[in-house]
Amino acid sequence: ITVGALRETAAGERRVAITPEMAKKMRGRGWRVLLERDAGASAGFPDASYADVEFASAAEVCAQADVLTCVLPPADGAIAGLREQSVLVGQLRPYGAHERIAAMSARKLAAYALELLPRTTRAQAMDVLSSQAAVAGYRAMLIAAESAPKFFPMLTTAAGTIRPSRVLVIGAGVAGLQAIATARRLGAQTEGYDVRPETREQVESLGAKFLDLGVSAAGSGGYARELSAEERAAQQQALADHLKNVDVIVSTAAVPGRPAPKILSAAMVAGMKPGALIVDMAAESGGNCELTRPGERVEHGGVTILGPLNLPAGAPLHASEMYARNVFNFVELLVKDDAVAPDDADELVAKSCVTRDGTARFTG
Ligand code: NAD
Repeated sequence: ITVGALRETAAGERRVAITPEMAKKMRGRGWRVLLERDAGASAGFPDASYADVEFASAAEVCAQADVLTCVLPPADGAIAGLREQSVLVGQLRPYGAHERIAAMSARKLAAYALELLPRTTRAQAMDVLSSQAAVAGYRAMLIAAESAPKFFPMLTTAAGTIRPSRVLVIGAGVAGLQAIATARRLGAQTEGYDVRPETREQVESLGAKFLDLGVSAAGSGGYARELSAEERAAQQQALADHLKNVDVIVSTAAVPGRPAPKILSAAMVAGMKPGALIVDMAAESGGNCELTRPGERVEHGGVTILGPLNLPAGAPLHASEMYARNVFNFVELLVKDDAVAPDDADELVAKSCVTRDGTARFTG
């Protein structure tokens, strides 16, 4: 079989879906690996770092790949250039993407969106949400440390004592926990908050304090559910008071397939200390703060709000290494006896399928 990858075309995207290490593993399985020229260059993997791999133009890769792997979905126009009945694997951003799904269906692609994999133990090795969220959480906290007007750690010097920054991480999922760990390593006084009660132990195990606002909203599949209007009001009231003493917020709260929960109102921001900083990791899905503008910097009463986009692309080498391992493990599921044969009876294959044989399987 031929497994391919293109140079990613989304603005600012620097990751690649097949790294030299994974190309070697694919070759070990007897698969042919076909990459667009310079596919990995921006991730730190020039063509020369891939052994025993073929390079071609994007059009040739699309036309020849039995399995095309990607980091982000190819443009709708490019999907029409993929081989009919071929397999597409990657973060296909399926929620609300009706045109993209129609394009994939028209091509009769067997298209698999890795972000739809269930969060089960067996799926862990393919869990791109987790691997990329870990990178994003780390990067968000570094951006916060870099952008804040204060030091994170305590410093005792002849010029006086500097008190450590007080950092609050809202949403203690994979990204949030990595952000907490990063803030701790930088010496900040760190707190974590989440609506899933089981996160308390996880936050505390990182040496941070758990902020209990008395609102619990565990949903299905290990995810949070959306809060009711009353719960949201209770959360905001409890949080508003607390924020008066916080220097830095990194917010990561999300509910799959839904706009990000609005947790920080303009009034709450106005009540924060001048010089305080918010890094809103949920900017891509609308933001946890109502003042966030995706990709921009907003100043509000002396408080700065950043809405960085595509954080994993900012650490493309390690992000690609983890992502490519996830992709390889998933593609292995689809291949039986040297042929591509996705098995619908496999929960992981069925749940991640977006289109197959000209039919949309995902309609969310
Ligand atoms: P996510 O990106 O969907 O959300 C980030 C966090 O925001 C979550 O912790 C969520 O509880 C929180 N949140 C949502 N609404 C909120 C609100 N109104 N206020 C405060 N916080 C709010 O989450 P994720 O990082 O993808 O993790 C989701 C779940 O998947 C977690 O339970 C995680 O432990 C689990 N998981 C399981 C595995 C596995 O192999 N079993 C692997 C990875 C993750």
